[in-house]
Amino acid sequence: MAWIPRTAEILRAVAAYQLAQEALAADFAARWAQVLAGVEARELAASLTALRTEYRAAIRESAAASRTLSVAFYRLVRALETGRVIGGPGYRPGASLGSLWADFNTATGKRTGTGAREPLPVDTRNPFPAEAIDREARRAEETFRQQIADRVEKHEREHAERKGSAALDAAELIAWEREFLESLKTGGSGAGGQIVQDGGRDMIHNALQDDPGAIGYYRATEGSPCYFCALMAGRGAVYKSKRTAAFGAHPHCHCQAVPIFSRRYQLPDANARFERMWREFGGGSLADWRTHYTKT
Ligand SMILES: [Zn+2]
Repeated sequence: MAWIPRTAEILRAVAAYQLAQEALAADFAARWAQVLAGVEARELAASLTALRTEYRAAIRESAAASRTLSVAFYRLVRALETGRVIGGPGYRPGASLGSLWADFNTATGKRTGTGAREPLPVDTRNPFPAEAIDREARRAEETFRQQIADRVEKHEREHAERKGSAALDAAELIAWEREFLESLKTGGSGAGGQIVQDGGRDMIHNALQDDPGAIGYYRATEGSPCYFCALMAGRGAVYKSKRTAAFGAHPHCHCQAVPIFSRRYQLPDANARFERMWREFGGGSLADWRTHYTKT
């Protein structure tokens, strides 16, 4: 008997997954803000080595959680859509919709669904890539340099230049320092949060390529995405090819890749809304779309 995709359950899982990935990025941002709050402004330059260590550790741990979550999500969506279980990390013999929902609920920390305990047929293949820890560590290092170390050094130079000139009064100086600290917080958490969520996005994107059961993916957006992400989401399914385009996330972006295994998939309401907006817009440059999207 042909399996009927459990569309309503899949859409619930998608919404829970997007929120859980967003929460991982928020946890990371909170941790980074706390680290920064523990350092006096005048000690930042001297604390860069310690800050770098903290930053990298926070990214490593949150990205690992993002990957674990994405594997549980992928396996659950695949089973709900095809009635079959895929192997790889976290696979347990006798897996059922019940056990897959339980794994997903554990990974998200929320009870979103339940299912029967009947074991499902298994595709023993492992499509999930080995963790690219080295590449991720290099990205974290580079991001720290751009978002934190370079800013701190520039700030130190400006401090030295301003010392003699007395160009700022006390209130201006306080505002300037506050803005600087804010830039370390926002820049560090935005770019770092992208690496964190790319843990899960890359996992799904790579698994698709190596899973003959997968036919493509679509973009699930956060509540009110930016114009770029709305456009990407409005395109609907991206069917996989030899060179499926990169996902194209950006700092402070909480969009996620949702794998598709059946032509009978259903998009979340938001995607259909963006598609309609795009049609009404009628075409034009990206800048025109931005204006159109922002005022709608
Ligand atoms: Zn986005």
